[in-house]
Amino acid sequence: MYRLLKKDIEHFYRNYKLIGKAKKRSETNSEVVSCRFCGKSSPEVTFGNDAHLVPELMGRNDFVYSEECDSCNNLFSKYESHLAIYLRPYLTMLGVKGKRKVPVFQSRSQTDSVDKRTTIRTEVNNQKEIVLGSLDDYQIDHEKKVMTLTFRNPPYIPLNVYKAFVKIGLSLLPNEKIEKYKNLFHWISDRPYGRLDYFPVIVKTMMTESQFAEPRAELSETRRTIKKDGFIPNLTLHLCFGNLIFQIYLPLAKRFDHSRMKVKKPIYILSHHIFQGLGEKEASRTVKTEELGEKQPVQLDEKISFTFTSGEFNI
Ligand SMILES: [Zn+2]
Repeated sequence: MYRLLKKDIEHFYRNYKLIGKAKKRSETNSEVVSCRFCGKSSPEVTFGNDAHLVPELMGRNDFVYSEECDSCNNLFSKYESHLAIYLRPYLTMLGVKGKRKVPVFQSRSQTDSVDKRTTIRTEVNNQKEIVLGSLDDYQIDHEKKVMTLTFRNPPYIPLNVYKAFVKIGLSLLPNEKIEKYKNLFHWISDRPYGRLDYFPVIVKTMMTESQFAEPRAELSETRRTIKKDGFIPNLTLHLCFGNLIFQIYLPLAKRFDHSRMKVKKPIYILSHHIFQGLGEKEASRTVKTEELGEKQPVQLDEKISFTFTSGEFNI
C-alpha cells in the first residue's frame, strides 16, 4: 500500500489520453446498428435488454447504450456475477443500492454451518447490522476509533472479475477503434482469438474524504506504447463509485514480444481530472494492487478498516 503522489498523476498525462467515458441514455445515440461484440444486427439478434456501460450493481444508473445484443449481454452477465462477489464488501459497507437494494454481505462458511457466517445488512440511514459468525472477523481500536472487519468472501474466479472490467472498457471504446482492438472483442466473447497478452493487475484506490455522487467509467489510450525503457499497455480503464477508484489495463492490441521487450514497471496512474471537484486531499488516498489472473475459484479474505465517530457495540 502506498500514498498516491502528484508525480503519479503527471506521469499519467505524459502517457495516456482519455478516449471514452460512460454517458447517460440522453447523451448517446440510441439507434441500434449492430452489436459491437459479435457484429450481428437485428433481426439475427435482439436488442431488448438495457445494456449498461456501468453495471448497476455499482449503483443504479442510466449509463446505457444500444450496441450490445441480448445474447452478448447474457454472456457478460456470467462475468458480472463474479464481479458482484468481488465488490460486495464495498457495496454493502458503502450502502450502494444496486438494481433493487443494498446487497447483504454474507461470508463463506468455514464449517458448512450457516451459524458461523458473518452477515452484514444495511438498515435505515445506512447503519449496519453486523452479525458475527466468528469474533476473529472483527477488531476494534476504541482509542483510534478504527474498526477492522474481515470479509471472508465466497468463492469467485479472479479472471472473470478482470473480464468484467475489460468488457466495461470495450463498451467505451470509440467505434473507429474497434478494428484495432478486435482481438480483445473475440477474447471477451469466447471466440477464437489466437494469442492475447494481458496483465491482470487491478489497482484499487480508496479515498477517505470524498465520494462520487454517481458511478463513472473512463477509458484512456496510450500516446505511445513503446518507450525506450519498456512497454506500456494500450488501454487503461478507470471505474469509480462510492469512495473507490479501480484501474485495470486492458489486454494488448498486438502480440507482445517478451524476448525483445520488457514491460515497464506497472504504472499506477490516476488521472487528475478524476479527483477534480471532489476536494479529496492527496495524502488521504490509499492505493492497493491485486492480481486477477487466476482462472480457478479462490476463497480470499479482505480486511477493510473504517473510522467511526460513534456507535453501539454489543458483542
Ligand atoms: Zn452481440
